[in-house]
Amino acid sequence: MSQPYDILIIGGGMAGASLAIALSGHGLRLGLVEAAPLKVEKVPNYDDRGIALSYGSRRIFSALEVWEGMQNQAQPIEHIHVSEQGGFGFTHLHATEEQVPALGYVITARDLGAGLLPTLENLDDVDLIAPARVRWARVDDAQAHIGLENGELHARLLVAADGGNSLVRQQLGFAVRCREYHQNAITANITPGNPHGNTAWERFTTHGPMALLPMTESRCALVWTVADKDVGEVLSLNDEQFLHRVQKGFGWRLGRLQQAGKRTAYPLSQLWVPDAVQHRAMVIGNAAHTLHPVAGQGFNLGLRDVAVLAEVVLDAWRNQQDPGSLDTLTRYQQWRRRDQRGVVETTNLLVRSFSNDFLPVKLARNLGVLGLEALPPARHAIARAAMGLQGHLPRLSRGLPL
Ligand SMILES: Cc1cc2nc3c(=O)[nH]c(=O)nc-3n(C[C@H](O)[C@H](O)[C@H](O)COP(=O)(O)OP(=O)(O)OC[C@H]3O[C@@H](n4cnc5c(N)ncnc54)[C@H](O)[C@@H]3O)c2cc1C
Repeated sequence: MSQPYDILIIGGGMAGASLAIALSGHGLRLGLVEAAPLKVEKVPNYDDRGIALSYGSRRIFSALEVWEGMQNQAQPIEHIHVSEQGGFGFTHLHATEEQVPALGYVITARDLGAGLLPTLENLDDVDLIAPARVRWARVDDAQAHIGLENGELHARLLVAADGGNSLVRQQLGFAVRCREYHQNAITANITPGNPHGNTAWERFTTHGPMALLPMTESRCALVWTVADKDVGEVLSLNDEQFLHRVQKGFGWRLGRLQQAGKRTAYPLSQLWVPDAVQHRAMVIGNAAHTLHPVAGQGFNLGLRDVAVLAEVVLDAWRNQQDPGSLDTLTRYQQWRRRDQRGVVETTNLLVRSFSNDFLPVKLARNLGVLGLEALPPARHAIARAAMGLQGHLPRLSRGLPL
């Protein structure tokens, strides 16, 4: 039997790669298994989608010393504007009001990967096992075990960061709660006629929520939610027709929308694992919670999992405790439960209430959004939550090293 790892991470996506970087340098024996070759162009989700990173996530990346390698590709969000097509409610959030340099940053998943993967490759204490696909997983009292095509690996703690369809989660019997939305997100990079002014626009249209996020090179990242039945038709539009359709929903705040890049559709559903830990194994990132992108919180939530897990595990390690014991992992679970539940439920509420055209619901949400505009303390609370700065913050979220 090969020597066991202290911690074995499955998945080299954004969550798994960030966790390996966070845990490195503290004397743990670490391994990371990824099904694809560990190159940005090969790992599936390091694609062109625009990721809105919260200010709190930026602090975590700064503390992990990976932000420097990404910041030139990241566009600050200084303002957020929320409105509804054909409605009267709107609200704004501003970085200056929150006394932060930016509410968040937009970066493509590809550029994020280009910051994470080379850092990962340079870590001496992380064995990178890729390309290698996990075939099975099981745990016993002493260790977790995984099977690869060419053998087995063992660890005191197995962390599954293997995405929404996590095989490890299924093999170890973690219970999931799922919600189907029957919607897709269509993404494309769009060049508007007017400067975006570092504003993120969230617009609720009759065809579903539409976000235009500020990007580098004067572009905006479009994330448009479309019902399953309409996806084929939208994808078959030519550039001119597509821009016309987006313009109709979004309006003219950014002038004439001039150019659209490649369109990609992502089927949407929600999945949450309320009890994400067992003795010797746990799930994080999309494997623990896959969200609708309407609020741009999926990876931000996963990165907060990483920040808390690294702190809890390293505290246990420094105190000669077992990093994979249920006691250690329960500390993680208790710390994370409130944030996870809050983001999962709020995201679902947003999707459901803004997908409803029943007049009283429409009126209530317009009044709700207007009410927010008139109530600075409520706006402030929402901004702090969206920035990932609410509740008991781990060291990394405060910008401190572990
Ligand atoms: C359209 C869209 C827009 C989004 N916008 C935002 C946003 O603005 N802000 C935000 O915070 N989030 C956003 N998200 C969410 C974000 O993209 C995800 O939360 C994030 O990519 C999840 O990362 P992960 O590492 O948890 O999982 P994944 O990216 O799914 O990574 C899992 C990895 O595990 C590997 N793997 C899987 N199975 C195995 C196996 N058996 N053996 C070995 N390896 C395996 C896979 O190859 C993959 O590399 C968006 C999502 C979508 C779809």
